Amino acid sequence: MAIVNINPANTWVNQHLNVSQAYDRLYDVFNPDVDGDPDFMSDLAPTISALAGIVGDAINDGKRLRALGGGWSLSTAAVTDGRLINTKNLNWRFPFGAAGVSPGYPGDPTLLMYTQAGMSVAGANNALFEQTRPQALKTSGASNGQTMVGAFSTGTHGSRFQFGAMQDYVVALHIIAGPGRILWLERASYPVMADHIVAGVGAQLIRDDTIFNSALVSFGSFGVVYGIVIETEPLYLLEEERHRLPLNPALRQAMRTLDFSGIPMPHPGEVPLHFEVVVDPHNPAGGGYVTTMYQRPYRTDYDPPTVSSSGLGPGDDLLAVMGQIGDVLGVIVAPLVNTLVTTQYSEFGPGTPKPAQIGTPGEIFFSTTSLQKEMSAEIGVALEDAERALDLMLALPEVTDYPGLVSFRYVKKSKALLAFTKFDTTCAIELPAAYADGTTSYYQAVWQGLEDAGIPFTLHWGQMNNFTPARVRAMYGTAVDDWIASRNSVLDPQSRAVFTSPFLEACGLA
Ligand SMILES: Cc1cc2nc3c(=O)[nH]c(=O)nc-3n(C[C@H](O)[C@H](O)[C@H](O)COP(=O)(O)OP(=O)(O)OC[C@H]3O[C@@H](n4cnc5c(N)ncnc54)[C@H](O)[C@@H]3O)c2cc1C
Repeated sequence: MAIVNINPANTWVNQHLNVSQAYDRLYDVFNPDVDGDPDFMSDLAPTISALAGIVGDAINDGKRLRALGGGWSLSTAAVTDGRLINTKNLNWRFPFGAAGVSPGYPGDPTLLMYTQAGMSVAGANNALFEQTRPQALKTSGASNGQTMVGAFSTGTHGSRFQFGAMQDYVVALHIIAGPGRILWLERASYPVMADHIVAGVGAQLIRDDTIFNSALVSFGSFGVVYGIVIETEPLYLLEEERHRLPLNPALRQAMRTLDFSGIPMPHPGEVPLHFEVVVDPHNPAGGGYVTTMYQRPYRTDYDPPTVSSSGLGPGDDLLAVMGQIGDVLGVIVAPLVNTLVTTQYSEFGPGTPKPAQIGTPGEIFFSTTSLQKEMSAEIGVALEDAERALDLMLALPEVTDYPGLVSFRYVKKSKALLAFTKFDTTCAIELPAAYADGTTSYYQAVWQGLEDAGIPFTLHWGQMNNFTPARVRAMYGTAVDDWIASRNSVLDPQSRAVFTSPFLEACGLA
């Protein structure tokens, strides 16, 4: 028996305290107790049926419904004005071998893993590490407190610039799309699971590239994602270095081309896996903090990464750093940001007092802590527009009161129709900042400035935004129509109404 707790009407608040939402009911759903390891073919059924019942109740009661992930989004993508489902307790995972795979699957079946929706990124890293053949995620965000489904549903990414974002290694979606409609979605061009296994778990198989690519980044709008299949990599290490380099023509060229030949790199001639540049907009003359990570074969004789006194790990994200600023009311911002960056975002690696950091992806991107109230927006521009966007952001008058930083990461184009990483190589510019009026004024000025300058851009679905139907269409063009058509084909009108949220309506995607 699945266990479902129904919490009465109250207000839900996201982990970083900038979104609150009154709800009618909040469901906590738990897996049944089983003896030993759960069985893929029989032990999923109770929770699938409980969730399908919750969708049916929402239809009958005329309520809207949405699944929550880790609650790390800084936009209202995760909520709706009705009922919410806490999925975090559904965290079983199942590796599978050749017998479970479609004959057309081109990859290595031993590197596939099915995880239930609530598996956190940290949990996935641990689960993969524990496999007989240890494995790792191909990429993740800077922290790992998100659920896997919550993370890719908004297009979460790192800076593995020759790969892509998290949704780009998801190859099957197990979705509850209505009371009697349990779906297994894959690409027609990339079959994964053996048909008899899909039938065995009681799901209807739909293999269709457009539908799959629509459902991937759909922020809870295609139903409740119950489970996913991901492609992983054999376990590897990341060797991480951070150096402050002058923000000169050579670094600027690297930032707009990813040609690193003009800048000093820790391992000249070797292409890093991850490249990132952080600029303090109050002190661009101080240079850019360049973080590089190189992929190394796994071995056990290394010193795991160190944690700073504030609890931040080496891969820890800037948002965690900037959240420490707290209340900036009436304070001159520039010296505060300078001090925080120089103390918390230190250099390490050859030529600095601190050694390079070495760890598995789970050790480098280890933070799951919820920190202070904070704000963040992320903008996607084409690689070649990165420098123009930087100059525009540095020149805005509103930067004076902006208690934050500007960070540049790089991601290959995603197949997901509404991925904000939509350019051949997207430069994802994050603006992590303290919770302040100066932050929102700066975001507005940046978005307006990009529009005025005619620089095409997108915005991260899980971060702060100014989406309107017109802006979303300007960003994604006819992909919007294909996405809506896919959603209409997956959800019947009653279920569609249930999974339509105010956020979806504000984006013109309902
Ligand atoms: C400190 C911090 C650091 C961050 N770092 C990065 C980063 O490095 N890179 C980056 O790209 N982003 C980053 N983000 C943004 C964050 O990764 C995304 O907002 C992500 O979507 C949050 O995932 P979550 O699990 O918390 O999901 P939530 O925020 O709870 O939900 C996200 C979306 O997923 C949907 N969802 C969740 N579970 C299900 C389900 N089972 N079925 C259907 N829909 C579901 C929700 O409805 C919602 O639309 C960061 C955010 C914070 C606060």
